[in-house]
Amino acid sequence: MTIQDKHLATMVAAIPDNGPMRWFAQIGALLLDHRLPPVPDVYDLLWRYVRDENHDLSLAVDRAIGAGGLDLGIIGDLRRTHCGQLGAKEVSALVEAAHDQAEALSHRIETGRTDLADYGKAIADGGARLEAPLDAVALAALLDQLGAATATMQAANARLQGELATAASETKALADKLGAAERAAITDQLTGMLNRRGTIETLQKLQSESREAGRPLALAMIDIDHFKRVNDRFGHALGDEILRFVARHVADSIADAGGKVGRFGGEEFIAILPGQDIMHATAAIDRARSQLAGQIIRNAADGSSLGRVSFSAGVASDRPDDSCDTLIARADNALYSAKRMGRDRVVPDR
Ligand code: GH3
Ligand code: MG
Ligand code: MG
Repeated sequence: MTIQDKHLATMVAAIPDNGPMRWFAQIGALLLDHRLPPVPDVYDLLWRYVRDENHDLSLAVDRAIGAGGLDLGIIGDLRRTHCGQLGAKEVSALVEAAHDQAEALSHRIETGRTDLADYGKAIADGGARLEAPLDAVALAALLDQLGAATATMQAANARLQGELATAASETKALADKLGAAERAAITDQLTGMLNRRGTIETLQKLQSESREAGRPLALAMIDIDHFKRVNDRFGHALGDEILRFVARHVADSIADAGGKVGRFGGEEFIAILPGQDIMHATAAIDRARSQLAGQIIRNAADGSSLGRVSFSAGVASDRPDDSCDTLIARADNALYSAKRMGRDRVVPDR
């Protein structure tokens, strides 16, 4: 064991024995023991290993360690055999873990600095307390020894701090990348709103939060009227512009009330209105509808008129026994009624 390893072992032992910090300590020790870079694939595998998420994987890692240690090739093989593609939940968990680890690493670096100062002071004090009768030659040798030990410790510490700083910044970069990937996975490219998956995930979250808080939640299914004609008349590219415009318009008009908009499909949007009963939600969506229908949309490029666009919407409110699907289905039925009744209107469920 080098001085550096001993120092790390002391630091790791000082980490409190509670779940995530303990896992972090174990991952940190494995990274340094096997000289592995703290990159996503390696973190992910060690994360699964220290949490014993998959017994076969844990056994395989133990075997690899017993047979001479881990390296990037072995990690790759283990991942191919035991880990599937990263799912969205795992990515989220990883982002969180990486954030925690980055925080913890930064903290350890600070602690390391203090440890170093303490060590230097201890040696200095120890030297000062040497009271045994020593001749000049023995004393000089002892002082030499103390000086060398201190220099070694300082060098080891500096190296360790450098490594921890690199690990911390790489972990932060990893967290940023994963965060961006996670956002992209739930964002609609064209409108910048939530995509279908993001809409469902947001609905699930807001639905359970509202239920827990005993507050209502309403959902509107919105569909642009005669959009096919808009495309036929102005072309697909301007059709896209109008889709963006309508999405932004609806999002802006319900943002103050905490409403969220997602693109559910082609020219269909879902507005989620937490805290609103069906009456208020219907009124809010109807305000957005009449404002949109009352204005002429202009081509941003040359100011030419693209005419008026309207939408129809159906609104339903969450019931205790609703799933996302049943709530959406009732809003969709109400939307269908709105279309049948002549479009450009908002119809509440029953
Ligand atoms: P309705 O009032 O009954 O909803 O009529 P509609 O024409 O809006 O409905 P329909 O379902 O017949 O047509 C939807 C149109 O939306 C057809 C499709 O070309 C257009 N559309 C779907 N996605 C996009 C898109 O991403 N960009 C553009 N420009 N058009 C799209
Ligand atoms: Mg449609
Ligand atoms: Mg339509």
